[in-house]
Amino acid sequence: MEIDSAVLYSKLKTFFGYDSFKGDQEAIIRNLIEGKDTFVLMPTGGGKSLCFQLPALVMPGTAIIISPLIALMKNQVDVIRGFEDEQIGIAHFLNSSLGKAQIQEVRQDVQSGVTKLLYVAPESLTKEENIDLLRDVDISFYAIDEAHCISEWGHDFRPEYRRIRDMIQTIGKAPVIALTATATPKVQNDIQKNLGIMDATVFKSSFNRPNLYYEVRDKVDAEKDIIRYILQHPGKSGIIYCLSRKKVEETANLLNINGIKALPYHAGLDAKTRAENQDRFLMEDVDIIVATIAFGMGIDKPDVRFVIHYDIPKSIEGYYQETGRAGRDGELADCITYYSYKDIQKLEKFMLGKPISEQEIGRQLLMETVAYAETSLCRRKMLLNYFGEDYTKDNCGVCDNCLHPKTTYDGRKEMSLVIRLIKSLPEHFKIEHLAYILSGRVNAMIKSYEHDTIPLFGEGKNHDDKFWCAVIHQGLLLHLLEKEIESYGRIYVTKKGEEFYSSPWEIRLVEDRVFSNKASDDDDDDAANDKAAMKGGGGDPILLPMLKNLRKDMSKKLNLQPWIIFGDPALEDMSILYPITFNELHSCQGVGEGKARKYGKEFIELIKAYVEENDITRPAEYVVKSAPTRSADKIFIIQSVDRKLALEDIADARGLEMNKLIEDIEGIVSTGTKLDLNYYIRQVVDDDIVDEIFDYFKNEATSDSVEEAMQALGSDYDEMEIRLVRLKFLCEVAS
Ligand code: ADP
Ligand code: MG
Repeated sequence: MEIDSAVLYSKLKTFFGYDSFKGDQEAIIRNLIEGKDTFVLMPTGGGKSLCFQLPALVMPGTAIIISPLIALMKNQVDVIRGFEDEQIGIAHFLNSSLGKAQIQEVRQDVQSGVTKLLYVAPESLTKEENIDLLRDVDISFYAIDEAHCISEWGHDFRPEYRRIRDMIQTIGKAPVIALTATATPKVQNDIQKNLGIMDATVFKSSFNRPNLYYEVRDKVDAEKDIIRYILQHPGKSGIIYCLSRKKVEETANLLNINGIKALPYHAGLDAKTRAENQDRFLMEDVDIIVATIAFGMGIDKPDVRFVIHYDIPKSIEGYYQETGRAGRDGELADCITYYSYKDIQKLEKFMLGKPISEQEIGRQLLMETVAYAETSLCRRKMLLNYFGEDYTKDNCGVCDNCLHPKTTYDGRKEMSLVIRLIKSLPEHFKIEHLAYILSGRVNAMIKSYEHDTIPLFGEGKNHDDKFWCAVIHQGLLLHLLEKEIESYGRIYVTKKGEEFYSSPWEIRLVEDRVFSNKASDDDDDDAANDKAAMKGGGGDPILLPMLKNLRKDMSKKLNLQPWIIFGDPALEDMSILYPITFNELHSCQGVGEGKARKYGKEFIELIKAYVEENDITRPAEYVVKSAPTRSADKIFIIQSVDRKLALEDIADARGLEMNKLIEDIEGIVSTGTKLDLNYYIRQVVDDDIVDEIFDYFKNEATSDSVEEAMQALGSDYDEMEIRLVRLKFLCEVAS
């Protein structure tokens, strides 16, 4: 089908009220109207919906829009429903939330050809009666929104997306348009292969968000740090992401105790509370929302000034989406992440219960986040490279590493060694494996390949494996090395790499940053001392040098090294908090009571004078108060489950009915604590039944209601089974 430009613009205006297209929209729409398969990679908010909505309205027939979320569907349909008055086109949706009468109505409109867009959930598309219905319909094209759900390597894999291609073939051929906002080269490849659209025209917009500032901080005293940050940015909107519901509740609580208005948001809250909290954030009744990743889908608050990750996300995809919610208005916004390798180990432990292939994928994605967190390179460059885009500027100026660049070294020798190793091996291996060989470390993989016996084993043992990982990562950024797409993550040498190898040119490399390896919830002040360099800083720019000078003078006078008096973080805190009593000084990082009394007097005097002279308003409340501890009963249950005691025994020990115990466990899980009940479930519930109930919650359920589940699943399942598997599901998937 051909379409005149004027026609397209007039439709754009009458249907959507816009005068011009955004980005590639027009080219994408033309491509689709011409009947070609189309693949769209565009960041969130880029305007993907229009790319299928407009063609659907102008092309003959009905467009099938496959979309994973009922809420998103309703939203889009409501928008388009606005056109109904003009009797031009109608949008409908077909999913499990509809009643019989509603389905009948939709069917009639589809059959009579009134429907121009039909939104369906992938699982509804597999239902036979729907397929029969659609077979007789003239289909203009298929749109697959959120297409990354096709790939296990995406951040939101949905098995039913894998069947879309078959469904399309059964229903009838028509052009396909796939759209997504997050796709690494690996995921892009999976999508195209799975949908059978390898020849699709690909439209890829830049994913760069120049107004976002990226920073990774050492996770030492993170709570205090966050409170301080918020106090420094009064009245600004921000989102704080935590991985568990429990942490969300705790953090929101802690902020409130410290006089900062914050609300929690997670899937364990009932729908009403969730909606209320979200509204209060959108209406700016509260500045801060503390949330699990459940928050943010479809959130379009333009002036979110900071996104803080209290926990490192499980993948860069997730990280990029979440940080992407900051600064929609184009103004500068901060994205700050707290990182500790301990958290990575915790995440790895959570994955242990999963199938091996899933664990392997999860681990690879996690390693990418580690590489990102620990790098000394431009964060923008790392992020964009991850999504298959080159960022060519050397210094972006808007990330911690570019603001505080590390010294570089001539990495010719090191890169050549890496390339020599890769070329000497008959197969390709992943980054960590190569790094282990060079640093001379052994693990089971190295043993099984007998790589501890090859000549290059330990050839770079003057450095550790982390060092070599960093070299390889930089080889990727320089395109001397590349990752295989099919067997994800294995490294090979590119043509450019071969050229480099035969006559190396100078490349400037940096070593990774060093982070503390403490448990994230620890509260030990002293370790913070030499970590100051890692923080972006940001205290009073006049006071801070004054404090440093004072420290220098004192260090000469007392003949002590400056950091022994007060570390940089302590001075930085002083320049933010303006302490004028010993007690207040004591709450700065690394300042124990003894130290405050021993060295603090002159600092306090200086700050006092400075505050008075410059009329400075000090933050009123900054001594971090802590939240009360949790009840003994809960802890007993959590510990007993950890020890894998039978639930009957736990109930007995506590004098509880089983029913009550399960209720208590549900309460614990609903606050975000993950319990591994598999040992018990395996004993009392048939594996098939576990799978079926689990599947139901994963693919069909519209809420976590036990009642709904019982209705949907029918009388073959008893309530206890459903409740147990629901708990498993909540712990493994939904939090
Ligand atoms: P995506 O699905 O890519 O995240 P949406 O399709 O939801 O993005 O669109 C994001 C926003 O951009 C919406 O508010 C939409 O109304 C707006 N938008 C889309 N196309 C245009 C256009 N051509 N001109 C102006 N605004 C547009
Ligand atoms: Mg969208």
